[in-house]
Amino acid sequence: MSHLLIVEDDDLLRDALSAQLTQAGHSVTPASDGARAQALLLSSRFDGVLLDLGLPQVSGMAVLCWLRQRLPALPVLILTARDGVEDRVQGLNAGADDYLTKPFSMAELQARLAAMLRRARLPAFGGSLELGSEGARHLRVDAKLPQAWLGDEPLELTQREWALLSLLVSHAGQVISREEVLSAWQSEPGEGAGSNALEVYIHRLRRKLADSGLNIRNVRGLGYLLESPAP
Ligand code: CA
Repeated sequence: MSHLLIVEDDDLLRDALSAQLTQAGHSVTPASDGARAQALLLSSRFDGVLLDLGLPQVSGMAVLCWLRQRLPALPVLILTARDGVEDRVQGLNAGADDYLTKPFSMAELQARLAAMLRRARLPAFGGSLELGSEGARHLRVDAKLPQAWLGDEPLELTQREWALLSLLVSHAGQVISREEVLSAWQSEPGEGAGSNALEVYIHRLRRKLADSGLNIRNVRGLGYLLESPAP
C-alpha cells in the first residue's frame, strides 16, 4: 500500500480519484490547492504525488519545482490539459516522472501510477544527488553507477551500506523506518540482516559521513533521519 497525495482543484475529479485509488488499496490524502499540498508535503510522508498543473493561486508547476528541491526522489505524476503540450514538456523538465492528459481513463492512471511507484522502489532512487552545507565536504550520490563521493573522494561502501545510504539520501529530511531498511536489504545476499546489524551499519555510515556535516539521527521508536546541518 502506498500513501498518495492527490492535488486537484476540481472537486469531482479529486473525489473520483480518491475513491478509485482508495479502492485500489492505496492510502490517499486529497488537497484542493497548491498551498495545502505544500503544507501536507512538509508534515507527512508520501510515496507518490498526483499533481494537477492547473491549480489556482500556487500553480502546479510552482508546487513541482518547490517539491523537487526538498524531496528529489518523490515520484510525481502530473495531470495536464489535452492541449497543454508546453505544460507537459515544462513539467517533465521540472522533474515530473510521468504525465497524463485529461480526460484519462482510471485504468490507465492506475497502470501508470503502479509503474511509477515500482520504478521508485527499485534502487532507492534513480538519479544523482548532492547534499551538504557550506564549509563541509559535500556528499554526492549517483544511483546509476552506483557510487558515492565525499568531496572528491569516492566512498568505499558495502552493498548493505550502499542500500542504507541511498535510502537515507532519497528520503533526506524524512524518517525512514527500520522495517523499510530491512526490506530494502532482503534482496541482497550475504551478511546477516536484522535490527542489531542495522545499528552496526548506521554506526559505520555515521563514521564514513563524519566530514560531510550530515547527521543520521535516531528517531526513537520511528527510525532514522538524514539531516543536513542548518546553514
Ligand atoms: Ca485544475
